[in-house]
Amino acid sequence: MVFGLFKKRDPVCGMKEEDGKGQIYQGKWFCSDTCLNTYKDKEKKSEKHAGGSCCH
Ligand SMILES: [Zn+2]
Repeated sequence: MVFGLFKKRDPVCGMKEEDGKGQIYQGKWFCSDTCLNTYKDKEKKSEKHAGGSCCH
């Protein structure tokens, strides 16, 4: 598996993972609740289009 070699990155604001900060949701790292909520919001919207964006 290649995944573990990379540090996670906040898909919303692009911030790199910082130890002890943020939170993990569906294998992705988010720097804050704000970014997580933004992501969840996008996710809801993209469900309508069916067949997500990139890596799932
Ligand atoms: Zn963020």
